[in-house]
Amino acid sequence: MKLHSVTLHHIKMTLKTPFGNSLETVNDRELIIVEVRDDEGHTGFGEGVAFTSPWYTEETLKTSWHMLKDFMIPILKGQVLSHPSDVECLLKGIRRNPMAKYAIEGAIWDLYAKREGISLAEALGGTARRIKAGVAVGAAEPETMLNEISKRIEEGYERIKVKIKPSQDLSLIKAIRETHPSIDLMADANSAYTLNDIEKLKALDQYGLLMIEQPLAADDIVDHAILQKELATPVCLDESIASYDDARRALDLNSCRVINIKPGRVGGLSVSKKIHDLCAARSIPVWCGGMLESGIGRAHNIALSSLPNFTIPGDVSASSRYWERDIIVPEVTVENGSIAMPDGYGIGFELNREELERVTLTKETL
Ligand code: MG
Repeated sequence: MKLHSVTLHHIKMTLKTPFGNSLETVNDRELIIVEVRDDEGHTGFGEGVAFTSPWYTEETLKTSWHMLKDFMIPILKGQVLSHPSDVECLLKGIRRNPMAKYAIEGAIWDLYAKREGISLAEALGGTARRIKAGVAVGAAEPETMLNEISKRIEEGYERIKVKIKPSQDLSLIKAIRETHPSIDLMADANSAYTLNDIEKLKALDQYGLLMIEQPLAADDIVDHAILQKELATPVCLDESIASYDDARRALDLNSCRVINIKPGRVGGLSVSKKIHDLCAARSIPVWCGGMLESGIGRAHNIALSSLPNFTIPGDVSASSRYWERDIIVPEVTVENGSIAMPDGYGIGFELNREELERVTLTKETL
């Protein structure tokens, strides 16, 4: 396959309700939709998931756009690619910038699967026909969070993740456990703690959490190893794993017992699959994290989650969890706590062009 053109769409979608964590609160989600076209007219879609601010990782929407436009697309355009995994190799000279890399690599995976007449899940080696849906509850007043948790459980979600921070952790988890003693519950700290908080984090052990996600610094795997030794609760790494080698080193150091794989954070679906395979070989379960994606990114996450070692429900939720209207048809729905693999080729969802146009701020074809 040969890339003929690439269109970058800068979109802005308004969340149904603001989503908060220990770092920031997001009201409007801006994203890049990457549309690749080959010389035979086939198309593929990917999503750039960097936020507009550098609080979660150093990449922003603008840096992704710059990397894609000025470096990645010029390298890839006109190249004859035999497989999407070629992209990782071609972009290897560009340091880091994993979200920009994934945005175009994901689009090329979709294009490839469509050309082959198979689903993206099948192209990746996925086997599951349905995946368990989990949901993240953003930081808010405890009362609001408790109400939302009850609502999500009623909607069928079987794994609840809550955002915690030093000013709102033990009391919140205790209150949730009093109402929902046996629900699969986990806490995400988005790096809000340091090793000085070990005793506080150890106190969470009594609540039987599935895991605690990214308690310490975003670039750390050493302190996490010290912490994991002290905690009964499994540590899960998110921000700290930005590449295959980060995952390998973290497992070698016993820095965590679970890894959250986000294809944007690690630089693509090919790398995600390699981390998945590594974790499977080491008996470390993985799950797919969420980045407040539009339907395009959500579809990629669903396909990735069909790989066999995604044994823990991810942050993969229904379109209606976040959006009044999504930019794909049909929208992603959750039934009995799970999401069915779509039947179509590639990502298996069609782009809703009208809705895409409505939310587009600017676009550029290269
Ligand atoms: Mg996280």
